[in-house]
Amino acid sequence: MIVQNPPTLPLTTAELDHIYELPFSRRAHPSYQKPVPALEPVQFSVVSHRGCFGGCSFCALTHHQGRIIQSRSIESIVREVTRMVAMPEFKGIVQDVGGPTANMYAMECGRWEKAGACPDKSCTPACKTLKTNHRRLTELLEKVSEVPGVKKVFVSSGIRYDLVLADDPGSNYLLQLCDRHVSGHLKVAPEHASPKVTAAMNKPDGAVFDRFHDIFEALQQGKRKRQYLVPYFMSGHPGCTIGDMVELAEYIRDRQLYTEQVQDFTPTPMSVSTCMYYTGMNPFTLEPVYVPKGREKKIQRALMQYREPGNRNLVLEGLRMAGRSDLIGSGKKCLVAGDGHGDWVPFRSFVRRK
Ligand code: SF4
Repeated sequence: MIVQNPPTLPLTTAELDHIYELPFSRRAHPSYQKPVPALEPVQFSVVSHRGCFGGCSFCALTHHQGRIIQSRSIESIVREVTRMVAMPEFKGIVQDVGGPTANMYAMECGRWEKAGACPDKSCTPACKTLKTNHRRLTELLEKVSEVPGVKKVFVSSGIRYDLVLADDPGSNYLLQLCDRHVSGHLKVAPEHASPKVTAAMNKPDGAVFDRFHDIFEALQQGKRKRQYLVPYFMSGHPGCTIGDMVELAEYIRDRQLYTEQVQDFTPTPMSVSTCMYYTGMNPFTLEPVYVPKGREKKIQRALMQYREPGNRNLVLEGLRMAGRSDLIGSGKKCLVAGDGHGDWVPFRSFVRRK
């Protein structure tokens, strides 16, 4: 027997304000004798909203908090930060103003209040009733920055770049974010470059990320201290083959997005991707989905970190499996050096070695 409880009803702004303004101590329980490392990055963070309408297949957050964005009032957040400033441990840095997706604050759809979220559609910027304006968010960040005693306000929660692209140009959200609310690195989660895999993940197409990346780079022009995008990519997701991972590795190489941060898909309770992982089917279309498992999952992960010396053998194995021995060698486009097992050596690199 399976018992499934219906999700909780969304809270109103007044209810959220009440809950988040309860007199939490922001300290570890007194029974802890030593400092709690997990508390440090969140001790002076503020929750601005709950809910996420992104609907990424591998994420269960929508099932916990719902797709309807429930936002606190700016006044309530400012009051919470004012109380934080009075704490002796506070050094002037608000570590995060965010939620499941930082830039969904105050976004709304005209349907949510009366009829709830559409059961048969995803909320994307293409939906005309979704208001993707960032003006209230920029106002919130300004008001929090003006609280006496606050030196810096960071946004450490991830942002949805497709929403940034859909923003009204007058809001200047990205400019404000880069200038004042991120340190050297802005975290974003394109997750993959292969359109087949992004479709299985229910993420925006790679071309959307490319547009955002280009805009971000343009904002860096003329800056004394440039910032960098930290993209999160994922290996081993249902629907992802070795060939798709080679495509991603080449994309990372060409766009100079190599990162130490990698995620390997882990089936977690309640997500659509987990359903695909165990059934080998897309639950919406009932079409079969390829599911990498076992050693192949290790190879997929290694392909994302093809520069790691410890991954060399797995990367070689993966490239050969994908029929991409042309990426083995010392050529400009090669991902890994050869191991003398008869792979094709690009002519140019052969000449250079001589
Ligand atoms: S109308 Fe669009 S934004 Fe609103 S709930 Fe439906 S899909 Fe989501």
